[in-house]
Amino acid sequence: MKYILIILFFFSFFVSCNKKNSSNANQVTLIQDEKQIVAFIYHRFGDSEYPSTNTSLEDFESHLKYLQEQKLPVLTLSHALESLNKRGGPKRIIVLTIDDGFLSFYENGLPLLKEYQFPATLFINTETVGGNTYMDWAQIREVKEAGIEIGNHTHSHSYFLNIPDDERYIVFQDEIRQSQKLIEENLGITPDVFAYPYGEYDAKMKDIVEKEGFAAAVAQNSGVIGGQYELFALPRFPMSSSYASISDFSEKVNMNSLSAKEVGETLHLIDKGHDSPELKFEISTKNLQFDQMQCFIQGGECVMKKDTTSRNSLVVSIKAEAPLIRRRTLYTITVPDQDGNWYWYSHLWINPSVSE
Ligand SMILES: [Zn+2]
Repeated sequence: MKYILIILFFFSFFVSCNKKNSSNANQVTLIQDEKQIVAFIYHRFGDSEYPSTNTSLEDFESHLKYLQEQKLPVLTLSHALESLNKRGGPKRIIVLTIDDGFLSFYENGLPLLKEYQFPATLFINTETVGGNTYMDWAQIREVKEAGIEIGNHTHSHSYFLNIPDDERYIVFQDEIRQSQKLIEENLGITPDVFAYPYGEYDAKMKDIVEKEGFAAAVAQNSGVIGGQYELFALPRFPMSSSYASISDFSEKVNMNSLSAKEVGETLHLIDKGHDSPELKFEISTKNLQFDQMQCFIQGGECVMKKDTTSRNSLVVSIKAEAPLIRRRTLYTITVPDQDGNWYWYSHLWINPSVSE
């Protein structure tokens, strides 16, 4: 598995090798702690027919206005990741991502991005291009020319986890290649970034994305991109429907990545009969106010246990009180530090036997 941390380690090693007088092992921690990317995911804009994936134009404009007022750097996903691996530069970078290539982005979202002069990353599933409510290639070309990065979101946007194991990986790889080819033919570019449809993946799908030559991949598990996140399953906060108010947006913009190390094997798929899984992780207690730690589970109650293993760390176990009945459920922990800054950690569970 490939972690940003590993990249940062090698980068730091490279830097220290090139600076004769520098051999401070703490550089890794410093870079990791200093830089964070907060990425958001949008789908439809000003399209009230699909409320769960829609962001109203009032809400969207309030987000852009807030970023402008706060003078926060907004970059494409690829540029943000490049910046994360460089020394210096901004400590907090914002990335706006849009999935699926709906026409409402071209008609309503893009004009606002142009007005505020912010870039974004658009992930397109190529099969529906030109279809009803989707952009066509000429419109996507215009989007690209407006400074929007184009990413791969597979060809068919299927529930790949519902395809039997022996076919899943072949189909998944074929679709990525087909989508890459169509984007190259129609836009003359080769995407560097990938987004899993519905944010669903397994370990082998992640390996395939990496082997196909992408620089990174995004999922839909909420969180801030910092040191401990996997480069091929980066988190993004949803910014549609009831999550899209300016108070929610500004809270997420200022959120920090909580460095939680999961204990045991990191699993995301729920096996039959284990539908109330326990998640255990270790957190460094430095500066954090653990008496104010909160735990959330979508659609249910969270049971949390804390065990102090040493003076500097804490093992936390969280579990849903009742079986998880959704296809995708997030376990989330938030905790403030002594200065009132909040830290966030989420783990996504997927139960492929549940249909949406
Ligand atoms: Zn999608």
